[in-house]
Amino acid sequence: MDSNGLKPAGPSEDIPAPDARQLERAAAAIRKGSAIAVTGAGVSAESGIPTFRDPGGFWRKYPPEEYAAYSAFLRDPKKVWKMWQERAAMLEQARPNDAHTGLAALEEMRYLQAVITQNVDNLHQEAGSRRVIEYHGNARQMVCLECGRSEPLTRSRIQEIPPKCRSCGGLMKPGVVMFEEFIPEDALAESERLAMGCNSMLVAGTSAQVYPAASLPQIAKYNGATIIEINVEPTDFTHDLVDVFLQGSAGSVIRRLTEHLKAGSSG
Ligand code: NAD
Ligand code: ZN
Repeated sequence: MDSNGLKPAGPSEDIPAPDARQLERAAAAIRKGSAIAVTGAGVSAESGIPTFRDPGGFWRKYPPEEYAAYSAFLRDPKKVWKMWQERAAMLEQARPNDAHTGLAALEEMRYLQAVITQNVDNLHQEAGSRRVIEYHGNARQMVCLECGRSEPLTRSRIQEIPPKCRSCGGLMKPGVVMFEEFIPEDALAESERLAMGCNSMLVAGTSAQVYPAASLPQIAKYNGATIIEINVEPTDFTHDLVDVFLQGSAGSVIRRLTEHLKAGSSG
């Protein structure tokens, strides 16, 4: 193991829990307050929602460039909405896991200021996180491309596809930011401000390959924050940017971290 806690990659079940020394290093940074979290698809993997990289999974059947790009949606909305019928069923069944509830607890304990998420599954909010910045929108909503009206995206509402706006008849689009679209300006500005001012940043379950979300740890590091990464395997950031690498599944690592902080604050 090297100084930032890195162990060789392996299947998640075989990975031992992060050692107490690494947990304490992370906890010490979080105890300073003004921590923020940046989360990605890995945080929801234990809720049964596949990440892009899951072998043989959802995104192999529906390649993102064919199903998650705005031009692909405009070219064939029905094809993309067909994928959403399946995805909406999966999202409706998903429940928050220990990673989501742990981050909500850290906010409640006033250690964590906010969660910036690339996920669109609404699970941070369901777990009780109050300040959630959605970088890539929310799949519980859809929006009319003609008049801008939004409404809930439910399985029953998308039985007939593509769904049409109830007030103007325009084409409805899932409320997520597709490739080729811009990140909502307020989310972008707020996350950059938080990244500049935080004392520590928890980067959990993201492969850190999708920009501009991937620039947030760089901004935080440049401004002096401690970067704590939680992932089943190292990422492009791990060697160069990360101060404490906690290897393991997001649910178990965040649960341990939260328990560690709770134990520390009561004693
Ligand atoms: P990604 O699929 O590129 O990377 C997932 C990362 O999570 C990987 O680094 C992987 O090693 C790690 N991981 C997998 N299981 C884990 C676990 N149990 N615990 C900890 N880490 C784990 O996802 P990304 O970096 O979030 O970027 C991809 C884009 O995909 C985002 O823009 C997001 O909008 C979209 N997406 C969202 C969802 C969702 O809403 N739940 C699901 C899939 C994709
Ligand atoms: Zn409309």
